[in-house]
Amino acid sequence: MSHTIAIASSNHSAGPVDTALRNRAMQVIPGGLWGHLNAANLPPGYPQYFTRGQGSRLWDVDGREYVDLMCSWGPVVLGHHHPAVEDAVQRQAALGDCLNGPAPVLVELAELLVGMIPHADWAIMSKNGSDATTGCVTIARAATGKRKILIAKGSYHGAVPWCSPSVVGVTAEDRAHVIQFEYNDIASLDYAVDQAGADLAAIIVTAFRHDMSRALEMPTMAFARRAREICDIQQAALIVDDVRAGFRLDLGGSWEPLGVQPDMSAFSKAIGNGYALAAIVGSDRFRPAATKIFTTGSFWCGAVPMAAAVATLTELRRIDGPGLMQKLGERLRSGIADLSAKYAVPVIQSGPAQMPLIQFEGDADFSTGTAFCAEALRHGTYFHPRHNMFLSCAHTEADIDLALRAAEAGFAIIVSIS
Ligand code: PMP
Repeated sequence: MSHTIAIASSNHSAGPVDTALRNRAMQVIPGGLWGHLNAANLPPGYPQYFTRGQGSRLWDVDGREYVDLMCSWGPVVLGHHHPAVEDAVQRQAALGDCLNGPAPVLVELAELLVGMIPHADWAIMSKNGSDATTGCVTIARAATGKRKILIAKGSYHGAVPWCSPSVVGVTAEDRAHVIQFEYNDIASLDYAVDQAGADLAAIIVTAFRHDMSRALEMPTMAFARRAREICDIQQAALIVDDVRAGFRLDLGGSWEPLGVQPDMSAFSKAIGNGYALAAIVGSDRFRPAATKIFTTGSFWCGAVPMAAAVATLTELRRIDGPGLMQKLGERLRSGIADLSAKYAVPVIQSGPAQMPLIQFEGDADFSTGTAFCAEALRHGTYFHPRHNMFLSCAHTEADIDLALRAAEAGFAIIVSIS
């Protein structure tokens, strides 16, 4: 069955404009494109280039319109081109973005974050999620005078040497003080803590287990509490990497519903509805170290993304964005469950409703999921077979119903070619 599906799905190809851009890019961009957006990582027929986004919709360079269930891989939380965000952006841009120092909006944003996130007493802004996770680790080491960092196996914290998923160009020394454990596995966490001995600086965990190509898993209460307890006993830092989930699950931080407070959290993605910004927030215990480390970047004081972030967070709070996205995600989830039953094609749905993943049973090579997504794409909805997807506040029930119609075409093709 898998083989047949792979052949069938390869019939869907990217459009002519997209293809022409890819060909030009191959000449001037190594490999055509970097990282997770390299053509080798795209499902067949998926466009690489886009011209615009509006609300819940996205247009590729060949003019095809999609209901967007990836939301730019997370940043677009209010919908593309949200009017409140764009107004704030234009007002700030008219004043200035890149000045000799920050604009007043920096202090406004830091106050907003400290007011919204219970464990936050301070905030430091930067640009990318990797900046924020790396900054948390540096502050933890500076505060504790210790070196070892515990990371869950397979968790993504960024594309920098201490945590990159690839070891190409990375030395063993870059990882010398990193120890791995299994997410949600207390025995393996305890074992890693033993290995670190008296040298434990921090445990860093993603908000939930959202490793590519496997079912998503929420943190268990016991695991979260044990991580907190270890850090308290060892005087180490508990860091939640909320770069991907932040502001979609809970505006106070994704572990807030668990009642477990990290010492520091890293945010980015959804913070500014697509404008480039990241933030570290932390508790007073880590303020002296956060003061002492040297951290900066040429663009870290950019005022436009900060204005976007103030507008985004204010709007998310006003409309209860996480609650709204949860309801829409549940509509999608129950519609998929109905289709799965109708077509007798068993699916595995995992993750929080706002960030769902749909997998097919017995689909180890993802050929079924890939065929499903390729067909749904042809019917106007952008799903992803391996990576968690993202709802936004711009999705309406009608959008979800359109996505379900596209999904139905996906289920039908699976049945027809199996
Ligand atoms: N942490 C997590 C959990 C992420 O999902 C990502 C990005 N996918 C990062 C860190 C790194 O963020 P960035 O790509 O902005 O550096």
